[in-house]
Amino acid sequence: MVSDEHDLLHPHLDDDHEETYYEKRIIALCNLLMDKGVITSGELLEVLQENQALNPSIGAKVVARAWNDPDFKQRLLNDGKGALAEMGITLKRLDDIVTLENTPSVHHVVVCTLCSCYPIPLLGPPPEWYKSEVYRSRVVKEPRQVLEEFGVEVPAEVEVRVVDSTAEIRYLVLPVRPKGTEGMSEEELTELVTRDSMIGTGLISVPSAATAV
Ligand code: FE
Repeated sequence: MVSDEHDLLHPHLDDDHEETYYEKRIIALCNLLMDKGVITSGELLEVLQENQALNPSIGAKVVARAWNDPDFKQRLLNDGKGALAEMGITLKRLDDIVTLENTPSVHHVVVCTLCSCYPIPLLGPPPEWYKSEVYRSRVVKEPRQVLEEFGVEVPAEVEVRVVDSTAEIRYLVLPVRPKGTEGMSEEELTELVTRDSMIGTGLISVPSAATAV
């Protein structure tokens, strides 16, 4: 194992961090796949480095563009892959990323009940809670309660739709553009968009200066 790859597989080497069951399992699986010649260490390294270079600011730019440009939003909703390509975003090994538009009457929240499928090209690697069994099992059974625990209160008249990701298709939630942001530039809007708002477990908060009119 080359040292870069070792650092990526054991990112907590210098801490007192004890690897969890799942971390040990992933490392064992990677080693097995390399031993069997299914993947090479170079390919593994490339994917790990690629994923670590990605983060939610990419998705935030997409959301801000969709808020600011209705034609782009329509293209994003109709053909995610094509619209993202316009922004220079490629999906690598994914077939598509489908955008789910939140509206005053529908709030989407994304999960992968099977494992941890996530729109990595737009948000980077998923947070720990997204991968947890408790989130994956509870959000489908009691979404409103789970959302409340994230600090998201969805009014009773708003439908909550839980969407299950798959290996091929991942989802981006397009949050409702907050009031008071009408005059903001795309760059300013990008700053407002949080990772959780693009999963559906967060709402956008607007700085008080923007709303104090
Ligand atoms: Fe999954």
